[in-house]
Amino acid sequence: MIIDVHGHYTTAPAALGAWRDLQIAALKDPSKTPDPSSLKISDDELRESIETNQLKLMKQRGSDLTIFSPRASFMAHHIGDFQTSSTWAAICNELCFRVSELFPDHFIGAAMLPQSPGVDPASCIPELERCVKDYGFVGINLNPDPSGGHWTSPPLTDRHWYPVYEKMVEHDIPAMIHVSTSCNACFHTTGAHYLNADTTAFMQCLTGDLFKDFPTLKFLIPHGGGAVPYHWGRFRGLAQELKKPLLDEHLLNNIFFDTCVYHQPGIDLLTRVIPVKNILFASEMIGAVRGIDPTTGHYYDDTRRYVAATEFLTDEERHLVFEGNARRVFSRLDAHLKAKGL
Ligand SMILES: [Zn+2]
Repeated sequence: MIIDVHGHYTTAPAALGAWRDLQIAALKDPSKTPDPSSLKISDDELRESIETNQLKLMKQRGSDLTIFSPRASFMAHHIGDFQTSSTWAAICNELCFRVSELFPDHFIGAAMLPQSPGVDPASCIPELERCVKDYGFVGINLNPDPSGGHWTSPPLTDRHWYPVYEKMVEHDIPAMIHVSTSCNACFHTTGAHYLNADTTAFMQCLTGDLFKDFPTLKFLIPHGGGAVPYHWGRFRGLAQELKKPLLDEHLLNNIFFDTCVYHQPGIDLLTRVIPVKNILFASEMIGAVRGIDPTTGHYYDDTRRYVAATEFLTDEERHLVFEGNARRVFSRLDAHLKAKGL
């Protein structure tokens, strides 16, 4: 089985975006705030949006199951206030849940949280619990920078975030550390802000001692871990300077990386540098990079090819990357699959 741990509903029917536009427009005139019930998307529309996109590509490329969360760039936690994010997260999570109900063999949900800059992350817990208990979601996406590129929140190691971590530990769900749209012109959303955030999240954890307080907390750092694997020597050296334990012990029982690196040399480096137990297969298709690589003739985000071709994995290790590690990190997914006899 091939499990893709990083997929977003980037192809939701246009009515979703239109509703969001009305919600944003109404921030200037709250009397025009749209009712969530005014958004009507039928099961047929959902089915079509998946069958002609993600599911089609999954079948072509050979992946079986995707952990599916709302479109990351659409989270835009910096827009409006907590109520804005709360309504928006509820709508987006429900759509992912409906997709998981329509295609139970191919999709299972991960939640977007209703974060808002300057608001206590504990405010996200009701939506988190609803997604885990009512929707059967197996993970969350946690935005370390709800301000959208201005970094106004404390680092992930700060007690500010602990209420979310306590819930994650209670339900044994990992968080993918995933920012959203950048509203800072210095940072391109998917080319700079995402990768900066991946690198930043890792360094925050390196300088802190978060996993002493939460030994079972699990973070998935997406996009191949940003700059982390490429600069592994720098991070090891910094940890040494800071009198931290070796990274294997300090961070690698809790931090994992995905394979959303869109070329073979990148996957070769990732699989050579980072222990296999810390690498989870993902493609983030249909996402930031949708084109075909002229040097290979294949889609950049067809990451299964790179994982299949890298010489730095044995067949057994490849199985861990494709399936075993995902089942270990997403324990609720494993339980769900076992209950289905898988
Ligand atoms: Zn993503």
